[in-house]
Amino acid sequence: MDTETPIKEVIEEIKEYGGYPVKYCYQCGKCDTVCPWNRVRVFSMRKLIREATFGLTEIENEEIWRCTTCGRCQEVCPREVKQIQNMMAVRRMATGYGVFPEHIKPVRAVTAGLGAEGNPFGEPRANRADWSKGLNVKTYEEGMEALYFPGCYLCYDPRLKKVAVATAKVLNAAGVEYGILGEEENCCGESIRKTGNEEMFKELAKANIKSWIDHGVKKIIVSSPHCYHTFKNEYPEFNVNFEIVHISEYINQLIKEGRLQLKKEYAKKVIYHDPCYLGRHNNIYDAPRDVLKNIPGLQLVEFEENRVNSLCCGMGGGRIWVDTLMADRFVNLRLEQAVALGAQELVTTCPYCVTNFEDARVNMNYDNTIEIKDLTEVLQELI
Ligand code: SF4
Ligand code: SF4
Repeated sequence: MDTETPIKEVIEEIKEYGGYPVKYCYQCGKCDTVCPWNRVRVFSMRKLIREATFGLTEIENEEIWRCTTCGRCQEVCPREVKQIQNMMAVRRMATGYGVFPEHIKPVRAVTAGLGAEGNPFGEPRANRADWSKGLNVKTYEEGMEALYFPGCYLCYDPRLKKVAVATAKVLNAAGVEYGILGEEENCCGESIRKTGNEEMFKELAKANIKSWIDHGVKKIIVSSPHCYHTFKNEYPEFNVNFEIVHISEYINQLIKEGRLQLKKEYAKKVIYHDPCYLGRHNNIYDAPRDVLKNIPGLQLVEFEENRVNSLCCGMGGGRIWVDTLMADRFVNLRLEQAVALGAQELVTTCPYCVTNFEDARVNMNYDNTIEIKDLTEVLQELI
């Protein structure tokens, strides 16, 4: 394909596809100093922004797919360049032209699965609620306290189904009147939007919104920070406004209200990893920590890079579906940090993080050194 697109066309397309003016960048390079990619290889957001400024973006270049949308560069950029929106804009161009480098090709199968079955695995829609069998989980009805939206990974992935089960057990123990929508639930669409597929995002969002309106949903509890982010900050683009609560916030509230009581001892050294989309993107840092601090006997330790400085696991921005070379996985660095601090368990609150850390644990032969848990999996042992 001819990639020598005229300068003006690229700039106009970036604007048209929702990119922010890249001309504000004055090439200070602060973005590159904090970007996690530079821990494992050379990568320059500064350079990508420079190329976009002059309309020289090479849309077939794998570099435009690297950004995990972790948000760390945006915290330090003095010119508010909005790197994530710019990368989404150039990816929309690449998707529009059907240009996918080798490592990015799995996104095409994911898109087919989302279109056919509403989930990235292409698993039957009818199996979406299978995880809940035998758990006394009801179908959502209007008037219930909340809809629980587990999301695709918790509904289909064998490891993450355990988190859905743990969540249901915790909500049941607290006497929460909640329900699920099972096969009427679709992928939230956050990650596919980050790959530049705006049409698929809209299709999924509209299907979810329709089913929520049809069922009279007002409040939605989510397990994934990616669902949280898109429901809270992006679905309002469709002129709707539901109350969105992350499970860590909801459990914290249940504990404060005395509905959930944690009496058993949990004598373990635990480290908490802030997921990018819960922390940096949505400012939820204290709720999961407050829950952990309420557990008798638990010793909470912190990464040196915590809260707003948390090191991304590498799975955001659609990279959960992309082949990442072993040498490029910054999750390995994060797990190394946890082990060095003597943590027996790494606890987090994001299905992408759990998936990625579990892989790293096996790849690094840490099976007997550290365990990876979702917050709800710790709590289910205490009720
Ligand atoms: S931090 Fe902002 S202004 Fe500085 S090089 Fe990066 S994008 Fe440009
Ligand atoms: S959002 Fe994160 S991964 Fe993307 S360029 Fe910025 S720091 Fe790097």
